[in-house]
Amino acid sequence: MVGLKQHFDSLEDAIVSFFGSNVKIARMERIFGGDINEAYGLTLTDGTNLFMKSNTGVKESFFAAEVKGLQAIEAAGAVRTPRILCSGTDRNKTGGSFLLLEFIRKGERISDYWETFAHQLAAMHRAETSGFVAGGTYGFTDDNYIGMRCQCNIVHNSWIHFFRDCRLKPQLESASGYFDTTELKRADKLLERLDTVLVEPEQPSLLHGDLWSGNVITGNDGKAWLIDPAVYVGHAEADLAMTELFGGFPPAFYDAYKEAAEIQPGYAKRRDLYNLYHLLNHLNMFGRSYFPSVKRIIDYYSEAK
Ligand code: ADP
Repeated sequence: MVGLKQHFDSLEDAIVSFFGSNVKIARMERIFGGDINEAYGLTLTDGTNLFMKSNTGVKESFFAAEVKGLQAIEAAGAVRTPRILCSGTDRNKTGGSFLLLEFIRKGERISDYWETFAHQLAAMHRAETSGFVAGGTYGFTDDNYIGMRCQCNIVHNSWIHFFRDCRLKPQLESASGYFDTTELKRADKLLERLDTVLVEPEQPSLLHGDLWSGNVITGNDGKAWLIDPAVYVGHAEADLAMTELFGGFPPAFYDAYKEAAEIQPGYAKRRDLYNLYHLLNHLNMFGRSYFPSVKRIIDYYSEAK
């Protein structure tokens, strides 16, 4: 499988370009589990399996951004990601965009699966970030997406300012229709006093950016593979916090991560504030059921602690 990163005008063109004109799609099976796109396992007439995501409602930039994210994680060299074939837009038929990736064959987890993943993630968080943004700064080469929503990655010299301007502010502005005047004031107060709660990291880290358990899958090497990233350079704590948002990983993961990475004191007090970003994003994407969690966090952090 060649790692060409091109944009094609149809799925058929892409298959022909990679596998030759006599190879066709023999079978297409729907895969469930994602929130946003339609996912399929493709079997080609030569027996190759591929993974495809498609979406008629997104711009070309959507999957192009996912490609850049997977490339960044691959470049960090610590955790496996699927090889990228290409992204494309089906101009003749559906008009939808698609992404073609290596199909990750699922395997049995190795016995120290969580420890190994924790060490790999810590290594990714330690990796050099100056290939993406200037050393010591936060952001990414391009904006990308968190779920369906655009994620701003304008480079900042301060992590706290980046998190304020590119993470909380845009989501709070979009969610303002859910807030009454008191809540809006509390949100403003929270933004003003962010530097009394957050800390600058000892070094910037490449983050997966959307690290919930559904985006970590076991490959046939028995190890964790990362999918569906929303990468940027930030504080590693933000990735760690996200792992704890929807159910969390087992204690073996956290024990091993703490062994492999220096966690700055007070992380537990900052965790929910990082996750406010994801909860606001869910509020903006999926509606009011996320409002009570959002309100609880804003109310808590807008008061002096
Ligand atoms: P979405 O963009 O809609 O969130 P995901 O990237 O989460 O979609 O993919 C949907 C599902 O497809 C995942 O839950 C996962 O189980 C499976 N999946 C994702 N990438 C691959 C892959 N490269 N190979 C095999 N299965 C995959």
